[in-house]
Amino acid sequence: MIITLKKNADKKQVDCLLGWLRDHKVTPHVSAGESETIIGCVGDVARLDIGLVQALSVVETVQRIQEPYKEANRKFHPEDSVVNCSGFKVGGGNFQVIAGPCSVESEEQVIAIAKAVKAAGATMLRGGAFKPRTSPYSFQGLGKRGLEILLQAKRETGLPIVTELMRIEHLELFNDVDVIQIGARNMQNFDLLKEVGAHSKKPVLLKRGMSATLQELLMSAEYVMASGNPNVILCERGIRTYETATRNTIDLTVVPILHRLTHLPVIVDPSHATGVARLVEPCAMGAVVMGADGLIIEVHNDPPHALCDGAQSQTPEMFAETMSRVNALRPLAYKLGE
Ligand code: PEP
Ligand code: MN
Repeated sequence: MIITLKKNADKKQVDCLLGWLRDHKVTPHVSAGESETIIGCVGDVARLDIGLVQALSVVETVQRIQEPYKEANRKFHPEDSVVNCSGFKVGGGNFQVIAGPCSVESEEQVIAIAKAVKAAGATMLRGGAFKPRTSPYSFQGLGKRGLEILLQAKRETGLPIVTELMRIEHLELFNDVDVIQIGARNMQNFDLLKEVGAHSKKPVLLKRGMSATLQELLMSAEYVMASGNPNVILCERGIRTYETATRNTIDLTVVPILHRLTHLPVIVDPSHATGVARLVEPCAMGAVVMGADGLIIEVHNDPPHALCDGAQSQTPEMFAETMSRVNALRPLAYKLGE
């Protein structure tokens, strides 16, 4: 339920309304925008007497939210949410590029790539320490040692770290990680989402499941938010279709659609979306023009020998070229309302 307040509503009366809502087991989220202030309500709203709220002198309108996602809903929070990733803001006009290898393989590899992507303009470093692999015989990641290497790279370059969390027991190892990635395969691991929301306020990069609808993606974001962490960044990373020319099918339409449905930032992963290194640049360019709030791109200093996802990894040189083309396109990005 959304309560829009009258302009210049009396603060005491608004506080009184907030207290009344809490007494009725409803949690109010006040969102003071430039043009209006709204109170988004979650909880037992079905029992509230809308007529009673409507009659209050400070209330302009009361509206029920039909969609099952509430906190993630644009109606709940009309302004774009800006997620602060250790000083690098994503959303609301702030654009960041996360780059790095699929997996952490060695200290030399990660440090070399981190320096190269930073020089090219990346603002965050990615790299998997715990890897969700389709085959149990494939490289599973360096685990704890991988995290240590990422933190070493952070110390040397200053780049915040983005890395995947697969099980909640590992959260304590993530203290110095800057952004927690929840991978496509875990997008509907509801227990993990609830635990991350309840036990961390770090930004959560939530990747779309490979056959998830946008509503399912938003419901997964809702799990994290409803558990107490509002800092969610959504990530389109391609979906499964009948097409076999690419690893997945990139769905760039979701960028403007999600911007209408939700206030959360939306970034695009053209690497997993295509699986082909030479397609990463055109898809990154497309994502920027569609209005994405950022990109996450796999970069490897020796793609043919990468332990994971070499075929889709750009070299540092390719990445530098992509960065300059992406930066040139940023002024052309589509914005909500155009
Ligand atoms: C990744 O980013 O390394 C990854 C495994 O991505 P996804 O979960 O989108 O497949
Ligand atoms: Mn990968």
